[in-house]
Amino acid sequence: MYEDFASKLAATMWADFDETPRRADGPPAEITDLNTMVIDGNFPWTIVTVETDKGVTGIGEAYPSPGVHEIITDYLRPVLVGENPTDVERLYNLMRESLSGRGSQEGVGTIAISGVELALWDATGKLLDQPVYQLLGGKVREEVAVYADCHAGEAMVESAKEGQEEETYEPEAYAKAARAAVEDGFDIVKFDLDVPSGREIDTLSRHFDPAEIDHKERVVAAVMEEIGDDAEIAVDLHWNFSPETAERLCRALEPYDLAWIEDPLPPENTDAMRELKRRVNATILTGENRYGRHGFRDLIEDQAVDFLAPDVPKTGGIAETKKIADMAEAYYQALVPHNIGSPVATAATAHVGATVPNFVALEYHAREVPWWEDLLARETDFIQNGRIQIPDSPGLGIELDWDVVEQHRKE
Ligand SMILES: [Mg+2]
Repeated sequence: MYEDFASKLAATMWADFDETPRRADGPPAEITDLNTMVIDGNFPWTIVTVETDKGVTGIGEAYPSPGVHEIITDYLRPVLVGENPTDVERLYNLMRESLSGRGSQEGVGTIAISGVELALWDATGKLLDQPVYQLLGGKVREEVAVYADCHAGEAMVESAKEGQEEETYEPEAYAKAARAAVEDGFDIVKFDLDVPSGREIDTLSRHFDPAEIDHKERVVAAVMEEIGDDAEIAVDLHWNFSPETAERLCRALEPYDLAWIEDPLPPENTDAMRELKRRVNATILTGENRYGRHGFRDLIEDQAVDFLAPDVPKTGGIAETKKIADMAEAYYQALVPHNIGSPVATAATAHVGATVPNFVALEYHAREVPWWEDLLARETDFIQNGRIQIPDSPGLGIELDWDVVEQHRKE
């Protein structure tokens, strides 16, 4: 009786598989070529293409980095041509093996692999006629929150600089930029706080005196006074503070109840970060310089921060970021992905955010690039009211407007 049931079950389970169950049971497609191109945005947005013999092209993006093109075309192309693009997990490991000892754990090798991984997911979704989020296990939310990086100083959006020419680091400039972002619908706005105060100081020691701390606090106070409860405020310290200064700054900012304080310390030392988090009453975020689940392991296991900021086209790609989120979920840490990319990187990050419960918001870093939305062939804006509705079309669910890409393509 039992044997009968077991053999029936086995027959059913394997009925749909061919003789090579190691390969994905997808359409018999083959990768025919890999390439890259650069869009000249506020960063050199590096688009990765994976061509297939089925006329489907997967579009991905790698974090801007020298050497990505050479690694993809000289090393990864010969490894992947002829492979089935829907074998994403196996091909990810194959790419890591092929670059073993040459950056497959971190750095530009991992960045190149990430860019290809995004394109493989896009190709897979298009070949299987499914959106990427569905292939990852389905959506837990219909839309993802996007936070506005308002930068600071010279890089601040034009509307905030009006009448501020010489004083873009003054608190009033920050307040105006915050108001503009809130009016565009963003619920979280972020500013760089590692900025000049106008005083001549030695920044290399990472020690800052009380007058410097006071300048940072006045910036946050001005933003808070302008937007009140209309949006949450986050600040980015870009690794530029010593533990003692970071502690004094975090304490000075405690009354403002910030959404998070990003990268208060240099990125390498998890012990120092954990110690800071224990000593101050602040939500701490880090992670844009970490690679893969192994790179995030100590931050997660030591509970050294509250929020993790993997960069999808850098840290290993879509599936790797989901794995990081799943590890973090066991420690009640949340994902706030770093993103300085084009709409391709942004869409890939949105698909991850749609599929993991422990997600807060992803970054939008291109408010000063007026043609960012024009890169997409669609009727409506991709980011609306500080949110992205997760697209239902196959793959990443977006199509680039190749005429606009061409206009901004970098040689
Ligand atoms: Mg940052």
